[in-house]
Amino acid sequence: MKRVFSSHNAVLVHHSRNLLEAEGIETEVRNQMLSSAMGELPPAECQAELWVRAEQAPRAEEVLRRPAVQGPDWDCVSCGEPSGAQFAQCWKCGSFRR
Ligand SMILES: [Zn+2]
Repeated sequence: MKRVFSSHNAVLVHHSRNLLEAEGIETEVRNQMLSSAMGELPPAECQAELWVRAEQAPRAEEVLRRPAVQGPDWDCVSCGEPSGAQFAQCWKCGSFRR
């Protein structure tokens, strides 16, 4: 396994995860539990991390480096949450863009 992304912002980590899974790349998010313990641990220990299988890491990094798709933001039909044009799926409820 290889770490391809980490952030204190769990939403960003989930966004990245959605991008990778849309490309058929299996992901694993680690340290989510520690994020809720912020304050007790040094900051570096509290980041949520996105891991992929080593052989998929080069492709995953390419996907994450890809510039954001141009276009208007869209609102989720299920929960109304706005998402950027580059996302095919709502980060909040998981509904696909329609
Ligand atoms: Zn939604």
